[in-house]
Amino acid sequence: MKNNVSNKNSKKNSEKNSEKNSEKNSNEISNIKNIDSKLAKQLQRLNIFNDNDLLLHLPNRYEDETIIYSIKQALQIDNSVSLNLTVLNNEQSSKYLLVNCKDDNGDFIQIRFMHFHPFWLKMLVANAKIRIFGKVKQGFNYAETIHPKFEILNSYNAAPKTTLTPIYPSTAGLSQYTLQNLISSLIFKIENGKNTAEFEYLYKDSLPEEILKKIHLPTFFRSIKFLHAPNKDCNKTALYKGDHPALMRIKFDEILAQQLSLRKAILNRKKKHSPSLKISFDNNSIVAKLLNNLPFELTKEQQKVAKEISNDLNKKFPMHRLLQGDVGSGKTIVAALAAAQCIQADFQVAIMAPTEVLAEQHVQKFSQWFADFGVEIAFLIGNQKSKEKKLFLQKIADGSAKIIIGTHALIQDSVNYHKLGLVIIDEQHRFGVAQRLNLQQKICQNDLVPHQLMMSATPIPRSLAMTLYADLNISTMNELPPGRTPIKTLLINNQRRHEIIQHIHKNILQKNQQVYWVCPLVEESEKLELQDAINTQKELQILLPDFNVELSHGKQKSAEKLAIMQRFIENQIQILVATTVIEVGVDVPNATVMVIEHAERFGLAQLHQLRGRVGRGKQASECILIFYPPLSELAKKRLQTIYENNDGFFIAQQDLKLRGPGEFVGSKQSGVILLRYANLEEDFQLVEQAQEVATMLLDETKYPEQIADFHIQRWLGDKINFAEN
Ligand code: ADP
Ligand code: MG
Repeated sequence: MKNNVSNKNSKKNSEKNSEKNSEKNSNEISNIKNIDSKLAKQLQRLNIFNDNDLLLHLPNRYEDETIIYSIKQALQIDNSVSLNLTVLNNEQSSKYLLVNCKDDNGDFIQIRFMHFHPFWLKMLVANAKIRIFGKVKQGFNYAETIHPKFEILNSYNAAPKTTLTPIYPSTAGLSQYTLQNLISSLIFKIENGKNTAEFEYLYKDSLPEEILKKIHLPTFFRSIKFLHAPNKDCNKTALYKGDHPALMRIKFDEILAQQLSLRKAILNRKKKHSPSLKISFDNNSIVAKLLNNLPFELTKEQQKVAKEISNDLNKKFPMHRLLQGDVGSGKTIVAALAAAQCIQADFQVAIMAPTEVLAEQHVQKFSQWFADFGVEIAFLIGNQKSKEKKLFLQKIADGSAKIIIGTHALIQDSVNYHKLGLVIIDEQHRFGVAQRLNLQQKICQNDLVPHQLMMSATPIPRSLAMTLYADLNISTMNELPPGRTPIKTLLINNQRRHEIIQHIHKNILQKNQQVYWVCPLVEESEKLELQDAINTQKELQILLPDFNVELSHGKQKSAEKLAIMQRFIENQIQILVATTVIEVGVDVPNATVMVIEHAERFGLAQLHQLRGRVGRGKQASECILIFYPPLSELAKKRLQTIYENNDGFFIAQQDLKLRGPGEFVGSKQSGVILLRYANLEEDFQLVEQAQEVATMLLDETKYPEQIADFHIQRWLGDKINFAEN
């Protein structure tokens, strides 16, 4: 049964081959007769690769064509409705086709088609009986409707529909009509062939009888069939609101599949082995000395999470822990302590950062912190002198480099680790799916799997943490190091730009403090984005001739970028104009002002991250958000939220609300399984129920493994790979 689904479910392959081999793909959508390769391609764009995908392609809304209204009634309703009409005549103008009609009461209505096929002129002739579906409005002189759906009435369609019309998510060139037909004929075939090998797996409920009783929801096929064609007498309110039992069943199934696959990933991980990095923490340990050398005391929160991590490292199965703490909460030193434990146990530690600037900064910090211990650090980035790179690769391979810091260059094939005990991923949400998968493959080559510590400043709301990240242990730091003054956020219209510059001159630069000036995101064009940054740099340099204004952007060579950052750290540069390179992690305590141009174009999490670049020293800091009106409603909400709040957790929640979970930073990119129908915030009860059921299904003494596998396969197909990593 499982094969039956998975054979056809090779999405990855079909994506790869889609250009070359569309014939092959059309076969993968089996059982759907006469499907041509053009249609197959369109379906693929909707992520439909086989019958199972097609069946689970649910409507996102319905149209109600089950009631026929008169023109008088239709005028009272602010929605599209069905009407039976008789055509009086039609008029063709250069732009429109006008069709004049009357209903059975003799009332008049004019239909206006904005574009039309020439043969409509022959169909919509005097005395033709038609049914339209559209919104009817009172025009100047008579009722009218614009571009309704229409059909010529005949003996087959004379009676009104008995089910609601499903409207599916679609793609260019693929009509609702085609989708509706494909799906309804598939359902018909499944119902008739439910006892055949071909269709049984599509019909069968994946849940055992006992569990079905427990959750009080309809069977899978009944729910699916209903949702594709709800009967006109159903509870429409519940259906539209999203809590109809059939929909609840689908959501439940989806969440359950996710829970099951995550649980399985945990079980798999526990079966693997990791080096136990048990060390003694006496005064001679590197950890103790490192702590002693620090110019500050760890906060309570830092101590707490450092302990959680250390305990994990003692264990013989891989740690998989996410350290989340607001920007500036001091995650780096916690990572360094874990690294120290790893080194003392005589294993290597790799630290991966999303940008070269950040990786370089880690090298500096770690060099400082570990200076007394004779620990060698290797540094790997994408473009690097080949001689230097070769040397580092050598030291990584022979084990003489104990700390290895870099960007995703750390996961290239040419890197051979000698004895890797711990991998630390900073700003993990910035890494894409492919990079995360590569990392897993890279580090899981041996029998011993290294421990993993991920760090993120974008806190995950509780509901997401419990579901999407169920395979992670989470450590949270809820406190900033002492002595920080809160960051003042200002929202300023670009028209007052000169005041901003004056203020910066007098209150910041003359007091020997520094400024980040972040330039707008220009989504359409990197060129424009760069131009904006260049112009800003010029403008500021002219207006502030006594200070050094320099530019850092993504197109610069690594060495140049790093050199500029170094000069900023040394206060040789007072204003650093940047595209968003500095967005993550950079730590320059003397920089006290963050100016963000076109703040309305940035996402909430991004704004919060950027703001977190300042407020790192003892001096009061400011974040100045320059906006350019007019603002969209969404932009207004974002700016208001960031203006009123400083708490990263709250902001992350708002971000989630404004964008919806699919777009939540981190979940989209990091490869966690997305939910199509369920909403973790709204369907929290289902999550709890699914967690309970997952526990039951994975109890080997009660149910065979295949039950859970079949359920996962139906809902996640080969997406399951993500969960295992
Ligand atoms: P993030 O969590 O954003 O990565 P960092 O690790 O870069 O934060 O730390 C921010 C700043 O706070 C750094 O300058 C760091 O040295 C400092 N810091 C970290 N922990 C403490 C502490 N316990 N007391 C004082 N300063 C600290
Ligand atoms: Mg950091």
